[in-house]
Amino acid sequence: MRRKLVVANRKMNGSLASNKAFLEGLLAGTRDYQNADYAVCVPHPYLFQAEALLKGSAIAWGGQNMSRYESGAYTGSVSPGMLTEFSCEYVIIGHSERRQRGHDTDHSIGERFEVATKAGLKPILCIGETLDEYEDGITDVVTIRQLNAVINEIGVEGLAGGVVAYEPVWAIGTGKAASPAHAQNILSFLRGHIEMLNADIAKNIRILYGGSVNAGNAAELFSMPDIDGGLVGSASLNTADFVAICQAASNDYR
Ligand code: PEP
Repeated sequence: MRRKLVVANRKMNGSLASNKAFLEGLLAGTRDYQNADYAVCVPHPYLFQAEALLKGSAIAWGGQNMSRYESGAYTGSVSPGMLTEFSCEYVIIGHSERRQRGHDTDHSIGERFEVATKAGLKPILCIGETLDEYEDGITDVVTIRQLNAVINEIGVEGLAGGVVAYEPVWAIGTGKAASPAHAQNILSFLRGHIEMLNADIAKNIRILYGGSVNAGNAAELFSMPDIDGGLVGSASLNTADFVAICQAASNDYR
């Protein structure tokens, strides 16, 4: 049975004071809800604080991106080794905001996925179609292309070291989540694709849904058989909302 995983993508938000309140609230709010896994991906300057506050708890932390290089003249970048020095468990890879504004490509994301797993991190690979692609009915073509870019780089076995997050771009930050049926449909399609290559990996890999998950829709989304949790942006900026989403994941334990 796959345990649900809920990941906060705090994006470029927070401050030392507001992070502290959020992390303490999350620790308290999930104490009695231990049937799911939780992680918080924070801006890099706050990794030290996340480690200090979460160490020894059941809540993991991670970065929101990383370089595919180990060191060198890459101004503004953070290496996988820097993330592991702060005991990160996860790193988000290929978020649509980085694909669209940071010029990340399918190929460079595949390389990052490989480098992250080699460093001992669990990459959370974000894939998903734009609104135009959705309206053109090519969600399957786009998501398989994005997934295959990683499989081509590291083989299907390499996928096992990470997590996949299906995040339709049209649902991110818009308040318009995909319907549970649509999300289930795509996740089942993606799992089926992995299954053709390796049934064991398909059975065990966690595939999350992301895109306007909130306290009101989380339980229904998480009740879908192939949705193994959520990657949560906006709702992770409100402690009570994010705690409610974590509790919904834990309550769905079967
Ligand atoms: C995200 O950015 O990964 C995300 C899912 O954002 P939101 O929850 O705000 O749609």
